[in-house]
Amino acid sequence: MKVHFVRTSVFPQGLAPSEERRVLQVIELCGRTAYKSEDRITEDSARSFVLMLKNHGHLSVLEHSNIALKIQEDSSGGSAPGIPSVQEFYESLRKIIRERAAYHRTCTTYDEGNLAFTIAANLRGWIETLEYLKQEATRYYEFLGHHLGRTFPALFQQGADLPDDFHYNVSIVPEEAQLELLRKDPRSDLPVFLFKFICDRGITHEIVRHRVLSFTQESTRYVNYRNKGMTLILPEELESCYDESKGTFITENPQVLEWRRRGEVIFEWYQSDIARGLRPEIARDVLPNLLKSEIFVSGRWSGWRHFISLRDSKQAHPRIRLIAREVRQYFESLGLPTT
Ligand SMILES: Cc1cc2nc3c(=O)[nH]c(=O)nc-3n(C[C@H](O)[C@H](O)[C@H](O)COP(=O)(O)OP(=O)(O)OC[C@H]3O[C@@H](n4cnc5c(N)ncnc54)[C@H](O)[C@@H]3O)c2cc1C
Repeated sequence: MKVHFVRTSVFPQGLAPSEERRVLQVIELCGRTAYKSEDRITEDSARSFVLMLKNHGHLSVLEHSNIALKIQEDSSGGSAPGIPSVQEFYESLRKIIRERAAYHRTCTTYDEGNLAFTIAANLRGWIETLEYLKQEATRYYEFLGHHLGRTFPALFQQGADLPDDFHYNVSIVPEEAQLELLRKDPRSDLPVFLFKFICDRGITHEIVRHRVLSFTQESTRYVNYRNKGMTLILPEELESCYDESKGTFITENPQVLEWRRRGEVIFEWYQSDIARGLRPEIARDVLPNLLKSEIFVSGRWSGWRHFISLRDSKQAHPRIRLIAREVRQYFESLGLPTT
C-alpha cells in the first residue's frame, strides 16, 4: 500500500545540551531530519556535518542549542583598582549588545549575591553576537571568544588572547543547573527545550509562525516520496477507526475507504510527475496539507509558555492543540507552572 496514516505525536527531547560533543550530535540529528538522511549518522559524523552547515550559512539548524556562560568576580583581581567589577562588566556588555539582543536572542541575568552574571544564547546567537562585538567592541569579543574557543573548539576559533584587564572566572552552566535556576526564578529563562513533533504540513505551518522558537523540518523539496510511499496524518474523523498499536485501521468503513482513495489519487499524480522527470521540489506541488512532516522545535521557556497560551486553547486547531497540551504536560512534569 502506497498511502499510510499515522497519528500526530510529540517527542520531548529534553534540554539542549551544554557539552560540545552532544551539542553537535543534537544539531546533526535535527539537520538530517530535513533531508531524511538520519541513516548517515555515525560515531563521528556530527562535527563535519555541523561545520558544513556553518560554512554554507545554514545557521538556523545551529539554533537548536544553548551555551550559557557564568561570569563571576575573580577574587584574585576582579575588583582591583582600574579593573571593572563584574557588575560594571555586565552593564557595559549589556549596553553594547542591547540593540541586537532580540535578534541574537541573548539572555542575560545578573546575580548580585554571587557577584556573577549569566549570558546564554544558542550557537547562532553566539556566532552573530561575536561577529557584532568584533566590529563594535574588540575587547569583549576577545574575552568571550577566548572562553568559547576553549570550551567549544569545533565551533569557535581558539587562541584569542585574553584582554589584560578582564580577569573573571568563566564556566559553563550545565543543563541541570539551568533548570534549577528556572524553577527558582522564571525570569532566568536559561534552558532551551527541544521537541520533535510528527504532524501534518498544515500544522507545521502554524507552528513556524511562533517566531521566537527555532525550527528544522522535513523537506518536501529534498525528500523523494516515490519509493517510500506517502504518509498522511490521521484526520479527526478517522480517529475511532484506527488501532494505534498496530498502526492500521480496525475497520474499512466508508470514511476510511474515501480517505484512502483520495490519498491514492493524489499520490498517483505525484508519482507520475516524478516519472516524467520532475524534481521532488516541483512534484511536491500536489501533495496535501495532511502530509506527515517531522519537525524539531526548540526555544526558551518564555517562548514555549507563549506557544502553550495561544495553542492550548479552544480557538486553536484541534491537532495543534493536541501538541500544545502534551508540551504543557511535559513542562508540568518538570515542575514548571504553565498558567
Ligand atoms: C487561534 C489562532 C488563530 C490564528 N489565525 C490566524 C490567521 O487567520 N491568519 C494569520 O496570518 N495568522 C493567524 N494566527 C497566527 C498568529 O497571528 C501568530 O502568528 C501566531 O500565533 C504566533 O504568535 P506570536 O506572533 O504572538 O508569537 P511569536 O512570533 O513567537 O512572538 C512572540 C513575541 O516575540 C516578539 N516578536 C517576535 N517577532 C517580532 C517582530 N517581528 N516584531 C515585534 N515583536 C516580535 C513579540 O514580543 C511577541 O509577543 C492565528 C493564531 C491563533 C492562536
